[in-house]
Amino acid sequence: MEKGRQLYEGKAKKVYATDDPALYIVSYKDDATAFNGEKKGTIVGKGVVNNTMSNIIFALIGEAGVPTHFVRQLSDSDTLVKAVTIFPLEVIIRNVSAGSFSKRYGVAEGIPFAKPTLEYSLKNDDLGDPLINDDHVMALGLASEDELATVRKYAHRVNEIMSRFFLDKGLRLIDFKIEFGRLPDGTIILADEVSPDTCRLWDIKTNEKMDKDRFRRDLGKVEETYQEVLARVKGE
Ligand code: UDP
Repeated sequence: MEKGRQLYEGKAKKVYATDDPALYIVSYKDDATAFNGEKKGTIVGKGVVNNTMSNIIFALIGEAGVPTHFVRQLSDSDTLVKAVTIFPLEVIIRNVSAGSFSKRYGVAEGIPFAKPTLEYSLKNDDLGDPLINDDHVMALGLASEDELATVRKYAHRVNEIMSRFFLDKGLRLIDFKIEFGRLPDGTIILADEVSPDTCRLWDIKTNEKMDKDRFRRDLGKVEETYQEVLARVKGE
């Protein structure tokens, strides 16, 4: 499958058309941004790590019955995916307090929740991706009640699958962001990516941060950590 016209360039990926209108090629970049684009950098090898890791996890999620956009990996940094219209929502599940949750509510990081907590942000860089609730999503006409119910159900299922998977690799899934899209027939599927850019993963034994917080917070060993996470995900 050949790359056609570039349809979109985001912070971490480019999306290309193919000769099949139902399929796109996603190309992962090494570019890294944080704090709504204020901090910029390069994490050498990140594109390959995120592409490969995302595909392994999407395959697992698909086998567990949650449909995803993954079709097949084309190269180290390119993947063939189903073309979807993305809901402009970041769906975030948290198992343990961290990041913006801790900041917003004034609580320490690392407090486990009694049950997984789901929240949405509106994908809008100009507005700084504001928090948004179910009623707001419907008021803005971004998704129907039934679609939101499916998104919530799938997101919790993805959390169960990934929490178990990462635990087996010696990693605690603290929180993560996923995105969903709609196929032309209305089917809702998981899209975008699952990687150290979009998950917080803490080492079970040392509590070391094994994710993009190493870049965001200048913790060092950024490249090494991405490689280490991929190696664990691959079972190496
Ligand atoms: N996240 C993401 N993209 C975003 C915002 C958050 O992938 O634009 C991920 C982030 O890596 C973390 C989870 O979503 O795993 C929760 O992030 P949080 O709301 O705590 O925001 P942050 O502290 O990253 O600004």
